[in-house]
Amino acid sequence: MMEQNRHSLPAGLLRRLASLALAVSLALGLAGCEDALAALQDAAAAPSSSTAQPVQPAAEGAFSVNFIDVGQALSVLITCDGQSMLYDGGNVEDGSLVVSYLQSKGVSRLEYVICSHAHEDHVGGLAAVLAKFPAGHVYAPVAQADTQCFSDFVKYAQQQGLAVEVPSVGTSWQLGSATVQIIGPVAQYDDTNDTSLVVRIDYGQTSFLLTGDMEQDAEDDLVASGAPVDVDVLQVGHHGSETSTGYVFLNAVLPEVGVISVGTGNSYGHPSEAALSRLRDAGVDVWRTDLSGTITISSDGANYTVSSERYVPPEQQNPTTADGSGQQSSSPQTIQAYIGNVNSKKFHLPSCSNLPDPANQVLFSSYEQAVQAGYTPCSNCLG
Ligand SMILES: [Zn+2]
Ligand SMILES: [Zn+2]
Repeated sequence: MMEQNRHSLPAGLLRRLASLALAVSLALGLAGCEDALAALQDAAAAPSSSTAQPVQPAAEGAFSVNFIDVGQALSVLITCDGQSMLYDGGNVEDGSLVVSYLQSKGVSRLEYVICSHAHEDHVGGLAAVLAKFPAGHVYAPVAQADTQCFSDFVKYAQQQGLAVEVPSVGTSWQLGSATVQIIGPVAQYDDTNDTSLVVRIDYGQTSFLLTGDMEQDAEDDLVASGAPVDVDVLQVGHHGSETSTGYVFLNAVLPEVGVISVGTGNSYGHPSEAALSRLRDAGVDVWRTDLSGTITISSDGANYTVSSERYVPPEQQNPTTADGSGQQSSSPQTIQAYIGNVNSKKFHLPSCSNLPDPANQVLFSSYEQAVQAGYTPCSNCLG
């Protein structure tokens, strides 16, 4: 279900890359390896004829979940078919960064703005966002809270004539052709983190879960309630704190990918080795904003592609040693990415001294994928 790419490319190239990855996988499915390039062109010309998905394969970039790098905080932009939703806005000081990011993505309106819970690193930037973008609905687990940042959030919603609504579990809506559903919290909690609104998003056969700072009490209650937590991509709770992402919850979610929004050198020691270790045990492919920067997951309804602002070897995202020394690098499961040059059609190791200009880079998740796309290995790094 997944293609992986780790790179730093402008958005247009990211979309091309995602569609290339899809096209290559279609080509493999259709034609094996013999005439992959011709099949690739066919697949690109007639994408809807080759799969039987509930969602039409996609115009490029039709659906994406973007984990904006806001340091030790959380902000996630979801876009689908031209509609947009923001889940959290980072700290107060991240407000202008989040606004700029939304503008760079062509967002002019937010159909839904969700505050996961009333902590500053989640609600803080939402006031600036609501000051700038008209919104359809504004959701939070409480309608008021005793902090300046939450009051500002309420104030800027009100300036648009919007009340902050407290959605009940089961509230569901369409964002374009994606389905969004509030599945938690299923009980009342004194711990503000556990009040986090838990949001499930389904686009075709791909699925995503946003959990804010939910910790293990609320996780366990959620699983016990029978809520549909099984998804492909999990926003790892509470910045990878050891008090989140328990085994009961992980076993119910069984994600392929876990994204941790976390700041470099944060004073909490996030992400914790305890949570990273549980994610390793569950075979989850971990991506971290402190290492990779902003992380974007695009989906065509059948497959999803993970890409990021910066390339980081997978073994560094969830090392077996807490110091990040990445001793797994010889592990057979390690995924090696390759960087192609769209002009010369050569591809390189990310460590090669002869890498093309970032504007001319394309990422491949395997040697075979690069060869199948018609690229030849660099004699310098791969000779
Ligand atoms: Zn937080
Ligand atoms: Zn919190």
